[in-house]
Amino acid sequence: SVAPPAVEQLLGRRNHVLGPSLSVAYRMPLHVLRGAGQYLYDHTGRRYLDTVNNVAHVGHEHPKVVAAAQAQSGVLNTNSRYLHPAILDLAERLSATLPPALSVVHFVNSGSEANELALRMAETVAGTRRTLAMSMGYHGNTSRTIAVSEYKFARRGGGGRPDDTHLLPLPDQLRGIGLDPTSHLPDHRTSFIHESILSCGGQLPLPPGYLRQVYAHVRRQGGICIADEVQTGLGRVGDHCWAFEGQGVVPDVVTIGKPFGNGHPLAAVVCTPEVAEAFANGMEYFNTFGGNPVSATIGLAVLNVIREEELQEHARHTGAYLTTLLRQLQQEHPIIADVRGQGLFLGVELCGADLAPATAPAGYLINRMRELGFLMSTDGPFDNVLKIKPPLCFSAQNGDFLIEYLDRVLREDGSQIH
Ligand code: PMP
Repeated sequence: SVAPPAVEQLLGRRNHVLGPSLSVAYRMPLHVLRGAGQYLYDHTGRRYLDTVNNVAHVGHEHPKVVAAAQAQSGVLNTNSRYLHPAILDLAERLSATLPPALSVVHFVNSGSEANELALRMAETVAGTRRTLAMSMGYHGNTSRTIAVSEYKFARRGGGGRPDDTHLLPLPDQLRGIGLDPTSHLPDHRTSFIHESILSCGGQLPLPPGYLRQVYAHVRRQGGICIADEVQTGLGRVGDHCWAFEGQGVVPDVVTIGKPFGNGHPLAAVVCTPEVAEAFANGMEYFNTFGGNPVSATIGLAVLNVIREEELQEHARHTGAYLTTLLRQLQQEHPIIADVRGQGLFLGVELCGADLAPATAPAGYLINRMRELGFLMSTDGPFDNVLKIKPPLCFSAQNGDFLIEYLDRVLREDGSQIH
């Protein structure tokens, strides 16, 4: 058999043929050829513990999801203007996981498409494009979603904040700032899009009551509320199936992406009948691939595995255990300023003196951990927050192993941590 091409050669070809706006992870790029459960394997057969790929929700290449995809691919794949039970089974099963008011489903193929559609629904219902969003949010790669994503429009290459986008400051519980949204709410009608634990914001949970206050204000003015569950949904946060439930609110629209197809492009917009009726104003919403029989069959397999393997419960227990271990590690290493999050959606903020973001050490740490066989990544406004959001089959033993190596790297002589 032919040896796999060297990493350098692949990188060269990639630089030649793929758009340069797409970056590669790690200083030493990874050439991965296989996935299984919470592990990825590189071209030499080396195994990496994956602490960050929340798309592989029930585990990389889960056999039941793969089998469902293979079986349906050999039978039929076509658009949703024909009748087929799979799309209906999936829509019913999905809406059964949500509060009863959220009962109408639209299938799409990515988180960006889901939020694009949700924002169009909001414009139709509220009669304005004005949108309230969280600082440092990311909701997608389309023009419309970038316009409400400070993570994109305010950074390099972005066009700045559009006039019809209004932002709430990041609620930073570590520094005690931005916790009360009421003084930042606009006095005109807007709709509101948000995550319920802020991912690009640095794995930031919202203070209790936060969404309740903002929802009440937005609805008083005639706007609607969109919960983006692309990162946090489908049981990851442990206590609930959906992260917004932890805030005691019911959104008008929920968007679901990444984990839904376990790697297959499957996403959805679930809304109330009132929103769906108002949106159906005569212009059809058709989506060539959305909810096709293969995608729908895969989505059903994912929901089945979550239930059969009790992955939400597992996320709750394992996340609580890992949080305890990380807090013990924090006692040993003052660079760990905060451990936060819920279930298997955690953040570890690294700071120097006076809570100055430890950006360079965080970058060093994830690259060093990659050398040792752990895939991790950073986020937050200063890229100093380790985000931990592994496939939900991540075990307590994986947690022990991760902590052992984090401890080792944080103590290493000659490291760039200190
Ligand atoms: N919303 C959130 C919260 C996301 O994190 C992302 C992707 N990182 C998106 C939407 C966009 O999803 P996609 O990349 O599938 O278009």
